Amino acid sequence: MQKHQVMVIGNDHDDLRLLSQHLAEEGLDVRESVCAVTVQALVAQPLPDLIVLDYNLPGIDPFALCEQLNADPQTGHIPVVFVGAECDSNVIVAGLDAGAADFIRIPFVAAEITARIKTHLKRHRRTEQLRLSLNECRNTPRQSGEGFFHRLIERVNSVYWIVSGDWRQMHYVNPAYESLWGEKPESLRAEPLSWLNQVAGTDVPAIRRSVERAASERPDMVRLPDYRLMLPDGSMKWVQTKGYRIEPQDPDDERYAWVSTDISERKSNEQNLSYLAHHDPLTGLRNRLQLAERVESEIIRSRRHGHSLALLIIDVDHFKAVNDCYGHMAGDLALCALAATLKEQIRSIDSAFRYGGEEFVVMLPEESLPQALQVAGRIRQRVSEQPLQLENGNVHMTVSIGVSVFPADGESYSRLIRVADAHLLNAKQQGRNRVQPAYE
Ligand code: GH3
Ligand code: MG
Ligand code: MG
Repeated sequence: MQKHQVMVIGNDHDDLRLLSQHLAEEGLDVRESVCAVTVQALVAQPLPDLIVLDYNLPGIDPFALCEQLNADPQTGHIPVVFVGAECDSNVIVAGLDAGAADFIRIPFVAAEITARIKTHLKRHRRTEQLRLSLNECRNTPRQSGEGFFHRLIERVNSVYWIVSGDWRQMHYVNPAYESLWGEKPESLRAEPLSWLNQVAGTDVPAIRRSVERAASERPDMVRLPDYRLMLPDGSMKWVQTKGYRIEPQDPDDERYAWVSTDISERKSNEQNLSYLAHHDPLTGLRNRLQLAERVESEIIRSRRHGHSLALLIIDVDHFKAVNDCYGHMAGDLALCALAATLKEQIRSIDSAFRYGGEEFVVMLPEESLPQALQVAGRIRQRVSEQPLQLENGNVHMTVSIGVSVFPADGESYSRLIRVADAHLLNAKQQGRNRVQPAYE
């Protein structure tokens, strides 16, 4: 069997060399390239089955390149796998959003990278065989009668459908439609766009726009935005749909072969990553990245409606001593207990964030200074009265809190944080276990 061809695009550094060597040992035909960093350069060579793209290529926007590769009819079907050192979850999520099949962190685990790349290659080869058969097939599979292609397409998991370029006539749908959509294919023959009935309402407008654009522009390849299917049994699936233009024999009979694949598993991985990027793993609260974003958008809303907005910065007093006395694990538990107290003391429109180690921020939309001081006072009191009970004793904790209010203390996120921080410092200097400014 012909070897899978993998192109590794990146600078000549140790990790990448090691990766290429490892993939070659695994029986793949590996080509390395430092120069094929444009789509044009790539398509000028024999196309690979998979592209490994170094995220840290100097002078190149790797995500833009990945998007171009995906959009180009000649390379759109080739899976792109990013590899990168020191990439956090945000970067990885952005890479997957840009259309990458995967994102692998360096240093890599050899067995894991092989398994991932081989899975992508297997999936690619299967789709590629079908794609080529589709292109060769001038007639619909039913008209072309028996044959290998027809038998194959009747069995695959992905939904294959052949539709006229203007979406008026459905020429063929394979049985996978019924398994994925939970609907009989007959409905599609009567109304080719009736597959949209199961698409989640919020996803429909974007899909319609893409479908209409494809019907008027007739590109060689179309990728619809990923969408959710709401199934009759109440479950939900994520679906990716791509369309390939079939070169018409008769110009009035232009057709597209569409392929829809269940990508629920991939989406759930992406969503996990996105959750990790926005939340603190210890307490489950939103993290600092989210804080800036949320406060900035709340400031815009408050300005528009003439509301105030309060921020509390909450810092555990002498937390180092908690770790020193009871151990780091007890310290972790104490932080989780504090996070729970914060959630319990705020309204549903408020939000709590982990700002850093033992520091938290609470955002209180539409609250004035006196109201915010009350909330802060309640939190302070609750923490001081509620020790965390552990096997080796009770952990007593207190917190100091600095408060700032939009617009009186400032009109930007950074200014509001600075003012609340200054009040927090004041509270510490005055003996801790208190709220600043003081309630009058
Ligand atoms: P102060 O009253 O001035 O705030 O004193 P402090 O001891 O709380 O302040 P300091 O900034 O000196 O120490 C904070 C400590 O918090 C040090 C660090 O080890 C601990 N810490 C930070 N993040 C975590 C965490 O996730 N878990 C645990 N157990 N401890 C943490
Ligand atoms: Mg601190
Ligand atoms: Mg502290």
